[in-house]
Amino acid sequence: MARVIAVDGPSGAGKSSVSRIVGEKLGFLHVDSGALYRIITWLCIDAKIDTQNPGQVAKTAGEVEIELRPENGHIAYYVNGEAPGDRIRTPQINANASYVARVKEVRDKVTSLLRSMTRFGDLVVEGRDITTAVFPDTPARFYLTASAEARALRRQKEEAEKGIAFESAEAVKASLLARDKIDSTRKFAPLKKADGVLEIDSSNLTLEEVVQTVLAALPQEWRK
Ligand code: C5P
Repeated sequence: MARVIAVDGPSGAGKSSVSRIVGEKLGFLHVDSGALYRIITWLCIDAKIDTQNPGQVAKTAGEVEIELRPENGHIAYYVNGEAPGDRIRTPQINANASYVARVKEVRDKVTSLLRSMTRFGDLVVEGRDITTAVFPDTPARFYLTASAEARALRRQKEEAEKGIAFESAEAVKASLLARDKIDSTRKFAPLKKADGVLEIDSSNLTLEEVVQTVLAALPQEWRK
């Protein structure tokens, strides 16, 4: 049976960096579940679908084929043989992904894709409902959080470094908070800290400190 480390938390809490490094250290494949919601959002926008119309979104999601390929320590996603890259990281996708992620058919599709990935081996999966809905029974569950200010600054820096967008810290913070609200109040699999999950507030911790906290909390036999 493949082992799964589940990491949830709001946007900008550092889930991706932490999950990637933990995966590298243990030889577990890194899985970015948010990218799957972003891909479906991107395809909806491309098809000029109203992302706030659940029926249309469900139909588009039903037609999407996402190919999974384990490569360089993570599971890469391809649509029609192409990797979406930073096209799914724009402010427009940020603003629409939470609406798409509210739709039950979308969540069911992403959840079954995520569960199917255990066929590739051990995984570190990050997202919003991994500890609560996708892999609730794994013994390694974490909830990563940080202050809204710290999260906004990180996201703003990331976007600027990648040349994706040059928004003010205030605009990034507003966008994060709007998404958090939709994600944590939606009907299906909302973002929440489940019982028995280790919460780590990374506001005043270095990346390495968060990684070490995660590693130290894993079942003894999982640590290398
Ligand atoms: O993690 P990321 O910011 O890329 O996620 C984009 C959006 O996808 C989130 O705001 C959320 O609405 C949705 N999502 C989700 N469940 C997950 C991962 C992401 O609903 N497991």
